[in-house]
Amino acid sequence: MAVTQSTPEAMFIDGKWIESSSAKRIPVYDPSTEEILAEIPDATNSEMDTAIAAARRAFDLDGWPQTTAQERGRILFRIAEKLRAEAPQLAELECRNTGKPIVEAEYDIADAATCFEYYGGLATKVSGTVNPVPDNALSLSLKEPVGVAGQIIPWNYPLLMAAWKLAPALAAGCTCVLKPAEQTPLTALKLAGWLPELGVPPGVVNIVTGFGETAGARIVESPRVDKIAFTGSAAVGKLIMKSAADTLKRVTLELGGKSPNIFFADADFEAAIDGALFGVFINQGEVCSAGSRVLVERSIYSKFVEAMTEKARNIKLGAPLDRETKMGPLVSREQYERVCKYQQLGRSEAKVAIGGGQPAAFKRGYYVEPTIFYDVDNSARIAREEIFGPVATVIPFEDEQDALRIANDTPFGLAAAVWSRDIYKALRMVKAIRAGIVWVNHMQPTYVEAPWGGYKQSGFGRELGLHGIDEYLETKQVHINLNEQPI
Ligand code: NAD
Repeated sequence: MAVTQSTPEAMFIDGKWIESSSAKRIPVYDPSTEEILAEIPDATNSEMDTAIAAARRAFDLDGWPQTTAQERGRILFRIAEKLRAEAPQLAELECRNTGKPIVEAEYDIADAATCFEYYGGLATKVSGTVNPVPDNALSLSLKEPVGVAGQIIPWNYPLLMAAWKLAPALAAGCTCVLKPAEQTPLTALKLAGWLPELGVPPGVVNIVTGFGETAGARIVESPRVDKIAFTGSAAVGKLIMKSAADTLKRVTLELGGKSPNIFFADADFEAAIDGALFGVFINQGEVCSAGSRVLVERSIYSKFVEAMTEKARNIKLGAPLDRETKMGPLVSREQYERVCKYQQLGRSEAKVAIGGGQPAAFKRGYYVEPTIFYDVDNSARIAREEIFGPVATVIPFEDEQDALRIANDTPFGLAAAVWSRDIYKALRMVKAIRAGIVWVNHMQPTYVEAPWGGYKQSGFGRELGLHGIDEYLETKQVHINLNEQPI
C-alpha cells in the first residue's frame, strides 16, 4: 500500500491518498463514448481494514465526537461553499461519468452543497430531553453519535448520494468509511481531496473504492463498524441485512421502487402529461422513486396515452455535455443490457406506444429509446420489477378503489404521486397509499428538509430532514438520584 500524491485515482484513507497494493484496477467509463475516463483501485481486504481502523481511531481516540457541534457545523458549511465554488468542474465530471445531461448534473451538485449546509446548521440543534420520572431524580436522554458509519452508495446520483450519507453522519459526530459505486467514484474522490484543507481531520472521512461483493461486503462484516447506511437495490439490501446481523449493526436501507404515478380524469391535463413524462424519464429513468407505473383513469386513458406519446417524441437524446440534451445514455453496459432485456420483455407483455429499442442515431454509447408500454396488466413483470431505465408502463384503472388497489399491489413502497383537482379524493389516496413519500399534483420534488425513505421492500430508516441525523445517533438514558439520604 503506497501513499501517493493527490491523485483522484487512488483511495482517500486516513487523510492521505493511498494506492492499492492490488495490481487489479477498475476501469471507470464515459457511457456516452464507452471510453475509459479513469482507473480506480480495487481495494483489498487489508486496505478496507486500514480505512475502518482509521475511522475507528478518529472516533475512539482522536476526539471527533468531542469536537463542538459548532465546529462540526462550520466544517460542513465550508464543504458546502467549496462544492458551490467547484460546481462547474464537479457537474462536468458527474455528467461525463454517469451520462446524465449536464443541466441535471448541475442541479445535483447544487443539491449536494445544500445538503451539507442543512446538516451544518442542524449540528447545533441536536439535543436530548428531560424525562418526567415520578421519583426525586433527574432523568435525561442524551443523544450521542453511533460511531463508525459504513456507507455504501449507488451510481445514479454519485455526489448527491455521498452528501446524503456524509453530511448527517459528520454533523452527528460519527466517522465514515464511504464506498461509492464502482461505476461512478470520481466526484466523491474529488471531494475527498479537499477535505483536509476544509478542516476534516484524518480518519474522519475515508473514501474507498472497489466492488460491492468484496470492498462493500468487508465494511458490512467488520465488527469495528457500528452502522451501515446503504442505498442500492433491494437484492443487495437483503444480503447486507443478513450479513450485518452477525454483528448486530444498526442498518438503514434505501432501496428500489416501482412507484405509481396516478392520474385521475379531473387532473390538469397538460400538467399531468408533463408530470408523467418527468416522473419516468428524468435522469434516464435511473431514479429510485421513478413514477414507472403510470396509472390513468379509464375515461381519459386513450387521450392520455396519445398525448404522452406525442410529447415523448420531443425528448432529445444526445451528448450529456450538450445543454440541449434531455436524455443521455444509461450508466453502463450492464445497465444497458438489463434495460434492453426489459424492453424486449415488454414487447411481449404489452403494447408499445413509443420506443422499445435502441436509437439508430448513436454508433456508440449506452443509449436506449424512451419507451412507453401501454395496456399493461399490473401482474406483468414490467409492472412488478424495477427496470431502472426510461421505461413507462401505463395501466388503466376504473375508479378510486381500483387505483388504490393497483397502486398498493407491489412489493415496493418508496414513492407515489396523485394528480387530481379534487382535494378530498387526493387526500384519501394519500392516506391509503403504502409508500414513504407521496406527492400531490407534482412529481419528484426532493427537499433536504423533508424525510426520504421507503415502506415495504423499499427499505427502512429515513434520510434527510431531522430524521436523517437521528439515524446516526444513539440515545443514552441517564438517571441522577436527587436524594441526599440513602434510599
Ligand atoms: P446495487 O445494489 O447493485 O449497488 C449499490 C452499491 O452496493 C454499490 O456501491 C455496490 O458496489 C454495493 N454492493 C453491491 N453488492 C454488495 C454486497 N454484497 N455487499 C456490500 N455492498 C455491495 O445498486 P445499483 O445498481 O448501484 O443502484 C441502483 C439501485 O439503487 C436501484 O435499485 C435504485 O432504486 C436504488 N436506489 C435507491 C435510492 C433510494 O433513496 N431509495 C436512491 C438511489 C438508488
